[in-house]
Amino acid sequence: MGELKKINLAGLSRHKLRAMFEKLDEKPFRADQVMKWIHQRGATEINSMTDISKSLRGRLIEISEILLPRILTSFSSSDGSHKWIVQVESGSKVEMVYIPESGRGTLCISSQAGCSLDCSFCATGKQGFNSNLSAAEIIGQLWWANKKLTGFNEMKERPVSNVVMMGMGEPLLNFDNVMDAISIMMEDCAYGLSKRKVTISTSGVVPAIEKMRGFTDASLAISLHAPNDELRSQIMPINKKYPIEQLLRSVKDYMASLNDKRVPVIEYTLIKGVNDHRQHARDLAELLKSLPCKINLIPFNTFSLSNYERPSNSSVSNFRKILKDAGYTVTVRTTRADDIGAACGQLVGDVADQTSRSTRYKKRFPREIQSSNIDRNLVALAEKM
Ligand code: SF4
Repeated sequence: MGELKKINLAGLSRHKLRAMFEKLDEKPFRADQVMKWIHQRGATEINSMTDISKSLRGRLIEISEILLPRILTSFSSSDGSHKWIVQVESGSKVEMVYIPESGRGTLCISSQAGCSLDCSFCATGKQGFNSNLSAAEIIGQLWWANKKLTGFNEMKERPVSNVVMMGMGEPLLNFDNVMDAISIMMEDCAYGLSKRKVTISTSGVVPAIEKMRGFTDASLAISLHAPNDELRSQIMPINKKYPIEQLLRSVKDYMASLNDKRVPVIEYTLIKGVNDHRQHARDLAELLKSLPCKINLIPFNTFSLSNYERPSNSSVSNFRKILKDAGYTVTVRTTRADDIGAACGQLVGDVADQTSRSTRYKKRFPREIQSSNIDRNLVALAEKM
C-alpha cells in the first residue's frame, strides 16, 4: 500500500482546519494558532509552533506538512514593482506581480498555469493550459510576497493591502481552490484583508459567478472589452457560451447579494482599430446604463505572439471622455512594470501546454520564439542559482 499523502496546512481555510482539529478531538481554536504561525509569522515547520503542545505537534507532523510553491527568480522594475516567477507542483511556472502605490500595495496573483480560454489580447491565453493551482499555491503567492518584502516582520506594516486575481488563468474555472485561498486572505488570523480589497477578475464564467454568492463576498471585476456580442465573441471566445446579457445579469445578482454599496469594475482593454472607436464608447455607455459600475480602461500592452497595437493617447482620452460625459467613473490604468514584462495582459510563465494552442501560435509567429526562449533561459539560469 502506498504512503498516504500528507495534508498541506498552508492551503486549508479556517473552516477546513477547524474541521481537521475536531476530527483529531482537539479544540477548533487550534486552527487559528496554526494559521497565525503560517500566514502571519511565515512558519514552514510544524515544530516551530511553540504554543502547541509537543504531543499535538507530533501528531500533526504524522499527518500534515506545510508546503509552499518555490520562487525561481525575481525581477524588479525601475518603478518599484516586482515580478516573481513561481514554480508549482505540476512543474509549470507562473507569475505574480507586486505594484506599490501611494497608500497601498497591490499583488496580482495567478490561479492557473496557463489558461484554457483564448482571449485574443492576452499573452497567457496564447500558452495554452496546464493545470489549476492548488489553494496552497494560490495563497503561497501572497505568503511569498510578505516573505520577500518584509520577511514577516510583525513590526513592519504589511506590504500587501490589495490582492487582485488578475494574473495567469481564469479564477472561476478553479473555483474551489480560489474560494479557499481568498477566504484565507480575508481571515483575521491570517492576512486580514478586507473584502473590498480582494478582487476576483473574471472573463465571465456565468454559472460560477452565480455560485459565488454562497461562498464569498469578495469584490468583482469583469473583463468585458467589447460593447456588443459580435465583437466580444471575436476577441473573447467565452462570450459565445455566456453572452453579455447573461453575464451582466449574473453580475447584478452577485452585487445585489452583498450588503453594501460596492460596484463592480468593468475592465476594458483598448486595442487600436479593434474596440477603441468613439461609437464603441457610446455603445458601452448605453450597455452599462442599468449597472452601477466603475470602468477601468487599459491601453493594450504589446507582447510577442500578438499583432495588436496600443491606441494613441488621444484616442484613449476621447474614449474616456465619452464615458465620463455619460456619467461613469472612469480610470485609465497607467502601465506599470512594463520593463519586466509584468504589465496587464503580458504575464507568461513556462507552461507545459496540454492543448495544441501554444504550438499553433508559435507556428504563426515563428520569429517570436526566440524571445520566449530568452525567458526560458532566465528561468533555467535561476533554477541553477
Ligand atoms: S484574459 Fe484571463 S481568461 Fe482570457 S486568456 Fe487571459 S488569463 Fe485567460
